[in-house]
Amino acid sequence: MSVIQPDIGVSLRVMEKGGDSLQKCFQCGNCSAICDVTPDDDPFPRREMLYAQWGQKEKLLGNVNVWLCHQCNDCSFHCPGGANPGDVMAAVRNLSFQHYSYLGFGRYLSDPKLAPLLLAIPAVLIALVVAVGSLPGFMSMKPIVFSNMAPVMAIDLIFIPAMVFAVVAGLAGIIAIWRDFTAHYGDERDVALIKAVWLTLLGVLRHDKMKKCVVNAPRTNAHLLLFYGFFALLATTTLVALMHWINLLGIASVAETPLPLSHPVKVLGNIGAITALSGIYIIVTRRLTLNAKQVGGTLYYDSFFGVVLFLTIATGILAELFRLVDYSFPAFAIYYVHLVFVFTLLVYAPFSKFAHMLYRATALTFTNTRKRKP
Ligand code: SF4
Ligand code: SF4
Repeated sequence: MSVIQPDIGVSLRVMEKGGDSLQKCFQCGNCSAICDVTPDDDPFPRREMLYAQWGQKEKLLGNVNVWLCHQCNDCSFHCPGGANPGDVMAAVRNLSFQHYSYLGFGRYLSDPKLAPLLLAIPAVLIALVVAVGSLPGFMSMKPIVFSNMAPVMAIDLIFIPAMVFAVVAGLAGIIAIWRDFTAHYGDERDVALIKAVWLTLLGVLRHDKMKKCVVNAPRTNAHLLLFYGFFALLATTTLVALMHWINLLGIASVAETPLPLSHPVKVLGNIGAITALSGIYIIVTRRLTLNAKQVGGTLYYDSFFGVVLFLTIATGILAELFRLVDYSFPAFAIYYVHLVFVFTLLVYAPFSKFAHMLYRATALTFTNTRKRKP
């Protein structure tokens, strides 16, 4: 016989992180019956509600179900007790982000008081790049060329080590959560890992799970727009950096920045920006106009990521527009802010809400390695 020790501290933390209706759950099981993504042989979220009420941290961390939930809120909408299980699952994910984040850095991204410090780090680093690397009189040079203010080489000196740190941190989080999944469910596999990764990739690209949402169904298209728009922008940034290095190393002669509007890489970037902003617009307006039962609660953690993502894209578009109309000061000033937000978005990714992509993909891959779901 095992004795369960309730940990009220864990329950309170779940409640603080958005699961404040947790204690209203009376275990009717309606939520598990209504959830369309839950596997028949391991239904959620009723059991996770019980674990959260009892503060069973070790049952919640490394619990693959927490990550299979896509916060569609069908369960919250139909919960007779008003316990909002969708928000409780999101709150548990929030705690998990912090737990699995490298060196515990995730807690810094959850504390609004630390936001100025987090932004000050890239602001100072980019200011150093400008102070040391900018060409004298860059502001009055025509045409406007952003690398006259922030040379690519100097930017890379900051971004490359920072991104290596972010990748190491992301991998450390993935390894830690995979280890805990294995500790919970065992490591026997029915499907090869490579095939499981492929199945996950296909599912993510099609948003298979999210398409099953009913109450919050429009979020799927908004999320798809944001997802593909973001990756188009990421591809654009990567291609521009590659083109710079190809020219610099003399491998070939390719177009230099600033690229004309008709260049395919520029077209990709602009389509990506419009697509991502459309997705953000739909998500934000739904959150502002619909009640939390339909769209879920919004926490600081979600808002920080959303605002940084929006400002990264918006400042990129504005900097480009001011460059095209030849207004030097706003173009350079906004480009500086843009670089600060790019750093914040990408380098802090493993510690912010952004990391949901990593942990959810890891949970889906773990699940796909088994015929019988965990
Ligand atoms: S969360 Fe709501 S629907 Fe689910 S078991 Fe508790 S009371 Fe029932
Ligand atoms: S929010 Fe949606 S996916 Fe998550 S448990 Fe509820 S019904 Fe299932």
